[in-house]
Amino acid sequence: MIPPGKTLGILGGGQLGRMLGQAAQSLGYRVQVFEPAGPCPAGAVANKEVNAPYDDTAALTAFARECAVVTYEFENIPSAPLAAIAPLVPLHPRAEVLHTTQNRQREKAWLRTHGFPHARYAEALDGDIEPAVSDVGLPCVVKTADFGYDGKGQMKISDAADLERAVAIFRGRRCVVERWVDFACEVSVIVARSTTGETRAFPVAENIHTHHILDFSIVPARVDENVARDAERLAAAIAEKLGVVGLLAVEMFVTTGGEVLVNELAPRPHNSGHWSIDGCETSQFEQHVRAVCGLPLGAVGVREPTVMVNILGDAWFAGDGKQEAGGERREPNWAALLAEPRAKLHLYGKAEPRAGRKMGHFTVRAPEIETALARAREIKAQL
Ligand code: AMP
Repeated sequence: MIPPGKTLGILGGGQLGRMLGQAAQSLGYRVQVFEPAGPCPAGAVANKEVNAPYDDTAALTAFARECAVVTYEFENIPSAPLAAIAPLVPLHPRAEVLHTTQNRQREKAWLRTHGFPHARYAEALDGDIEPAVSDVGLPCVVKTADFGYDGKGQMKISDAADLERAVAIFRGRRCVVERWVDFACEVSVIVARSTTGETRAFPVAENIHTHHILDFSIVPARVDENVARDAERLAAAIAEKLGVVGLLAVEMFVTTGGEVLVNELAPRPHNSGHWSIDGCETSQFEQHVRAVCGLPLGAVGVREPTVMVNILGDAWFAGDGKQEAGGERREPNWAALLAEPRAKLHLYGKAEPRAGRKMGHFTVRAPEIETALARAREIKAQL
């Protein structure tokens, strides 16, 4: 066990690292952040911030030597530098877990090999998507294998015209082509697994995306009990099989027939777990700290039905919120949000609002989930 007072190192300095650092400090840990891009949201609340590229092995190993344990909040860290620090300090989740989950092709192949349910897919690793598209059939979605998130590097193909455009766009890029899933809803389960092997799944979150970016997370999810149980079991089995220490977020589709299919894995705190700060007995961030430090895991009961809403940079621009449409910059209507006694505001300290950039989130709680959702929609509209 790594007791409070020791230093937790976080690779990546975005909002996930910020909220993770805050939770670690509440438990009495020291926090240091390694972020290539310069002063960052996580560094602003850490005991120390180091700015250097991930492949600066000297800077990274010096950083690691000052930590009792190192974790990460960002998936696109090259695995070679991680291998360099692994002998120096415990790194959780292990570099192999990151290697598997940071690339869609490896991740899907891993799911297939281990028999976890997922949408039918085919690989297009030579930069020609046509054979893969005819294999899975239309409609389908092309996704680049590397560096994809929030719908970046993705395109839906419904007909021959889409296909012609997609062939040109993705030529020369390593891709996977996935059957389009006619889902009833999207859900996620975040599982914590400790250094001791203790495993605990957070309740299922129902997620609504807009333009591929998470918009609302709703807990408890409005799904059948059997679906919720299947989703939780699936996520726990994946965490176990991957040998994750820390958090694993498992995003899933629930089909109209009630089948649960895995879409994506992320070995870190996840946007769909932000509700837990206000709505759960233990937040996902605290749970991650407990897991990587070998402390007993916290309780995961829902304190009260909770809806989380992302606040994007669009909220700073008047009109329809479109910065590029020449909307004038203004401050969102925080007063309307803060006047609601059951709402909580979380901002990440980012100076520059841009369309689609995650600037913060808010939660709304209520005894009934539909009430919380209706109120959350009203507040969002007033922002
Ligand atoms: P991803 O980056 O893979 O998480 O995809 C972002 C979002 O695109 C998902 O949350 C879904 O809303 C949508 N999406 C991705 N893949 C599919 C699919 N195979 N079928 C239907 N919708 C999808």
